[in-house]
Amino acid sequence: MTEILASERIAALLRPAAQHVTVRVVEETGSTNADLLAALPTLHGPVLLQAKRQTAGRGRAGRSWHSAEGKSLTFSLAWKFDLPVHALVGLPLAVGVALAEALAMFSIDARLKWPNDVLVQGRKLAGILIESAGAGSVPHDASWAVIGIGLNIAVDDSMAAAIGRAATGVPWLADLDPNMLMATLLSSLAEALVQFEHEGLAAFIGRWNALHAYAGQAVVILDNGRVLHEGIGRGIDAGGRFLIESASGQVAVMAGDVSLRPKEV
Ligand code: ATP
Repeated sequence: MTEILASERIAALLRPAAQHVTVRVVEETGSTNADLLAALPTLHGPVLLQAKRQTAGRGRAGRSWHSAEGKSLTFSLAWKFDLPVHALVGLPLAVGVALAEALAMFSIDARLKWPNDVLVQGRKLAGILIESAGAGSVPHDASWAVIGIGLNIAVDDSMAAAIGRAATGVPWLADLDPNMLMATLLSSLAEALVQFEHEGLAAFIGRWNALHAYAGQAVVILDNGRVLHEGIGRGIDAGGRFLIESASGQVAVMAGDVSLRPKEV
């Protein structure tokens, strides 16, 4: 019953770009991304799935996303694009911009870490995991993206121990109406996705670079713990590649399973 009320309440608060999204709120699930990926063949339009408890949240490359009831926001949005799958390459960057700009509406100074994290004061506040699939009946010019977002509200000791890396939350978000928070984030996401479909990543490059967490700072790119590149972080190029000014010139790094880190001095 509360879930039905929550989804109706979220739906009532949406801005126009998100008003056609079906909103579902569940008490508990393993992974909202896994659920929406499995449901794609039956979907007729965009769906938001929010879980109060997510027990097997996923990150990139089989990593885990940790969360706890009342201390995290965990949700996924399934969205169909009239674009082929390969045109979605820069989508995590556009979604990062949408999330950071939405958080700015709450006076949260969120910054972006390439390719898919949102940081506050250098610590991870939110992660983005996008999984995509060609849209069966029209394989070449349409695709579905399942955009998963985990956002920390409060990180307690047991969560911090499970995460094992610098993470942070914004505890006062727990004092806001959770449905208003969800509706604000979903509205900003939907607006960004519409813009991405029409204008591509080009509409987000300048905004991403303005929110870059390591602009002008010494960084390294790691591949399985091994330093692949090091230099000064410059931002992203038109293709969404990460630009580093290295001793031997500018390097453009493609997103893959590589990791960006500030250089330890
Ligand atoms: P990289 O930083 O190497 O690019 P990543 O850390 O961004 O990779 P992701 O797959 O995006 O990797 O996210 C999963 C990782 O995020 C986990 O391995 C863990 O280190 C961290 N993590 C998991 N849960 C949380 C959380 N609630 N808050 C902050 N960080 C988390």
